[in-house]
Amino acid sequence: LANRIFGAQGTSIFESMSRLARETGSLNLGQGFPEGLEPAELIEAAVKALRDGPHQYPPMFGLPELRRAVAENSRRFQGIELDWEREVLVTSGATEALADTFLALLNDGDEVILFEPAYDAYATLIRRAGAIPVPVRLSPPDWALPREALERAITPRTRLIVVNNPMNPIGKVFDEAERAILAELAERHDLVIVADEVYEHLVFDDRAFVSLLAIPELRDRVVRIGSAGKTFSVTGWKVGYVSASPELLAPISRAHQYVTFTTPPALQAAVAAGLNLPDSYFEDLRRGLAARRDALFGGLLSAGFDVADAPATYFAIADISAFDPVGDDLSFCRRLTVEAKVTPVPVSAFYAERDVTSHVRFCFAKSFETLGEAVHRLARWR
Ligand code: PMP
Ligand code: GLN
Repeated sequence: LANRIFGAQGTSIFESMSRLARETGSLNLGQGFPEGLEPAELIEAAVKALRDGPHQYPPMFGLPELRRAVAENSRRFQGIELDWEREVLVTSGATEALADTFLALLNDGDEVILFEPAYDAYATLIRRAGAIPVPVRLSPPDWALPREALERAITPRTRLIVVNNPMNPIGKVFDEAERAILAELAERHDLVIVADEVYEHLVFDDRAFVSLLAIPELRDRVVRIGSAGKTFSVTGWKVGYVSASPELLAPISRAHQYVTFTTPPALQAAVAAGLNLPDSYFEDLRRGLAARRDALFGGLLSAGFDVADAPATYFAIADISAFDPVGDDLSFCRRLTVEAKVTPVPVSAFYAERDVTSHVRFCFAKSFETLGEAVHRLARWR
């Protein structure tokens, strides 16, 4: 029997646009995955670990070397002090971390606030955990946190706020004033913040990124989620990690033990090596992605796209309102795929109501060759 909750979502937009891109020979700038950016040290560490083993179930919390590396990386970049034995859990991707967190912390009828445009997994997993997603919308052009709307959305049933920071698909980084609002409201209403920080290392132009877990008043209220897929450009590996106080992490680990129990040990060992790479790796990643962003931006602008600045993540969104005939964003993505052979994804997929149809999202974590070809095709199409 098809499940009401998952069935209602249909196939994820990333999967369906990737399939259309394959079928039409289009350049896929839709689904977020990098091209050719994975560090050689990480791959070598994985090869070595696969050759040498071990190959059996690692500890349920994750390999100690990876949990230490997660704690050490958080200390180095965010000044967060973590007890790696009680405050770090390894999961099979950030997606599993999200699922474990919702399964562990939510009861039937609880409410969870999320900010739209929101990554598509949140609402579906929240509903499947028996709870109710309550969207609060951010609006262009500045996508600021709307304090009043957020306060209005909080009820006695509110349990969690999901904050994706930096934020997919709009590339937003929450600023100091916004972080203060989140901290104030979480404390006042006794809420837990699920901080999906998978893009923590993809922040450009010397902009500051501060983890919500680094805010002293939030130290025991934040579940911080990271992903090796994003930090090391290996989205297929599905290695994630959760950091939280022992009181929050213990129930999450109990969910994890019945969802996947563990994650391939060779990949865990390699990700540990990756997290321990020197600062230069993380700086080069940021600089390399910023250069790719600029390459795609220049091309999109000269092809007539109205693109907004992207301070973080590997996504750029473009307002398509000026195109004639424009149709909705999904039909625009299909048309661009067929006519220009370049594929973005529609931003309406990040709204529960699918009613905001003015923007499409391009992924710029690609080779300069791919980006140059995309720009060439878009210019010819216009
Ligand atoms: N959260 C956000 C905001 C994402 O963009 C992604 C990646 N698509 C994930 C979570 C999932 O990460 P993972 O592949 O590690 O499950
Ligand atoms: N997070 C990726 C994106 O936003 C997609 C992940 C997926 O395909 N489910 O593009």
